[in-house]
Amino acid sequence: MIILHICCGPCSIYPISYFKERGIEFKGYFYNPNIHPYKEFRQRIKALEEIQKIFDFEVIWDKEYGLRKFIKETFMLWDKPGKRCERCYIMRLTSTVKKALELKAEAFTTTMLYSIHQNHQLLKEIAEDLSYRYKIPFFYEDFRIGYQKGKETVKNLNIYIQGYCGCIFSEEERYSKKRKKELIKELKKSET
Ligand code: SF4
Repeated sequence: MIILHICCGPCSIYPISYFKERGIEFKGYFYNPNIHPYKEFRQRIKALEEIQKIFDFEVIWDKEYGLRKFIKETFMLWDKPGKRCERCYIMRLTSTVKKALELKAEAFTTTMLYSIHQNHQLLKEIAEDLSYRYKIPFFYEDFRIGYQKGKETVKNLNIYIQGYCGCIFSEEERYSKKRKKELIKELKKSET
């Protein structure tokens, strides 16, 4: 059995279909202290619950709102998206690995490997490192190949699709033109 960390409902559809089509046994694991604010967190849980009903699979839920945990983990990295996301990936994948060990799973993986908006290479490196340190296989698959298919399915099912990654900082980066400009400036500065 594989523990599949699920970051949100829409990103889970393709990986779930992938496992089901191949007869690979898995359990979903929802652990995302990075989703803010509270109403958005509840909405994403609801979207995954709808998908769970349609596709019929097991999910281990952590429905505790994690703003405080996230703030602690990413302390002082809030305005450094690269570093902040790295901490965020480590936080969620470490918890996934621990859950996989607790349940004596054969491997772990994450639906974050489906998103074209995440740092795929960094995610892979972090998961490989955790796999080595905790001595549990990491099931790697480039789920991005099914991105379009997954997106169309979510649209057809009329399920809520979030507009930003998750944390309150990513919400600002998505919707504030001022913050977007600042980030581009910072990026250019770091390249010179
Ligand atoms: S942008 Fe996404 S991956 Fe990065 S810290 Fe925020 S929630 Fe985590």
